[in-house]
Amino acid sequence: MKNPFEGKEVWFFVGSQDLYGEEALRQVAEQSKVICDYFNQQDIIPAKIVLKPTLKSSDAIREAFLEAGANENCIGIMCWMHTFSPAKMWIRGLQVNNKPLLQLNTQLDKEIPWDVMDMDYMNLNQAAHGDREFGFIVSRLNIPRKVVVGHYTNDDVCKNIGIWTRACIGWYEINHLKVCRIGDNMRNVAVTEGDKTEAEKVFGVSVNTWSSNELAAKVHEASDEQVNKIVDEYLDGRYEVAPELQRDGARFESLVDAARIEAGLRNLLEENDCMALTDNFEDLADLKQLPGIATQRLFEDGYGFSAEGDWKTAILVRVANVMGYGRPGGAGLMEDYCMNFVEGQQAILGAHMLEVSPTLTDDKPRLEIHPLGIGGKEDPVRLVFNATPKEDAMVIALSDFRDRWRLVLNMVNVIKPYHDLPKLPVARALWQPKPSLPVSAECWLRAGAAHHTVMVTSTCRKVWEDFARIADVELAEIDENTTVAQFEKDLKLNNAYYKFENGF
Ligand code: MN
Repeated sequence: MKNPFEGKEVWFFVGSQDLYGEEALRQVAEQSKVICDYFNQQDIIPAKIVLKPTLKSSDAIREAFLEAGANENCIGIMCWMHTFSPAKMWIRGLQVNNKPLLQLNTQLDKEIPWDVMDMDYMNLNQAAHGDREFGFIVSRLNIPRKVVVGHYTNDDVCKNIGIWTRACIGWYEINHLKVCRIGDNMRNVAVTEGDKTEAEKVFGVSVNTWSSNELAAKVHEASDEQVNKIVDEYLDGRYEVAPELQRDGARFESLVDAARIEAGLRNLLEENDCMALTDNFEDLADLKQLPGIATQRLFEDGYGFSAEGDWKTAILVRVANVMGYGRPGGAGLMEDYCMNFVEGQQAILGAHMLEVSPTLTDDKPRLEIHPLGIGGKEDPVRLVFNATPKEDAMVIALSDFRDRWRLVLNMVNVIKPYHDLPKLPVARALWQPKPSLPVSAECWLRAGAAHHTVMVTSTCRKVWEDFARIADVELAEIDENTTVAQFEKDLKLNNAYYKFENGF
């Protein structure tokens, strides 16, 4: 997939004031550059950090935030008070800020220079209280922000900045994302519904519909050259191809049909600048197959996809792909199917009808064709594999509770299936939800979390915590420390909090 960080910047605002004189301010600028340069040398920070001129007055601060707000390449602002920057100067700027904010609490020297420390040194290096002055005003203005504390060379400091920049790129992406819904929701399904206008208001994402006939037309219009190129890719060794789908196989034509569907889907998405999509097996016009391998390969290219009209999960998949860019692992649509209640082996088997992301496996997927009992179409071609075991993976869902959005995140360990599944013709994952299957499932049910999720193996939970904070939406987390009693209380508190926060 395309590098989403390409050309994107985090702006580094360093605060001071005129009181200290030119020599001190020269040192502030110089030392800020040392820190900024260090950050830019760290691979763990995927975005470029751009140091801006030291901010010393209310007008300059306001202008800096306005400039950042109008700059499409600026995905976030990191603030550090090198000296003491009286925080009333920051009010008007913070009030017009529309970018994710990080408050950095650091200083140039790791150790206090005990022998030589004098008043000049102390005057110059007073971030310890300068950052507290800044913290007050950000809290008083009730502006969400990430806080990172520590010496700038500390690995955790760089890691946390890197995590936050990933959340920033996720926020940037969701604010620019266009979702192509081919058809509507699966009939009568509740949780996949939602308020698309509210989604655009809160997340910036634009969700719109295209008829399945338009997709069918694109499929018919796709050139033989494009289709043949896709067939070549299917057969070039990246997949373990079933004999019947080989060029001389009895069902090669079904493979060509699948490739033609992929071509049509890609053309529809590209022409409409959409990086996420949904389809619905109940509304396939004259497509010969339910899109299987096509959707799976779109995951590989970073698209967000979900089935049955579930645009909310499609969005989460796209955001997960962007935030996890360059990291091992991946993300994709997942659906809880069957539970293994055997003591000591409690686990959930997840899959979907066809559309499981190959980014979740290190194995070479098998390219196969099997019947599908729903949709009333020809047998669809699909990739089959087991998701690769991964500790501290996540499943995440987004529900629309009408008065607000709720993200629910469950920490899980993806494990090797306890037995082979010789008769199961779809890709799948087996995972142990934390803290246990019964506690996780009870919390998930109580939270009203969806049956579709994005399974994520590429990023850590902190990225999603930062993302939820930036978006200012509820995030209910189920992890190794969760108890049902506490979780239930947290949901009640959240209900009250968001009613106050959003107004009655
Ligand atoms: Mn489903």
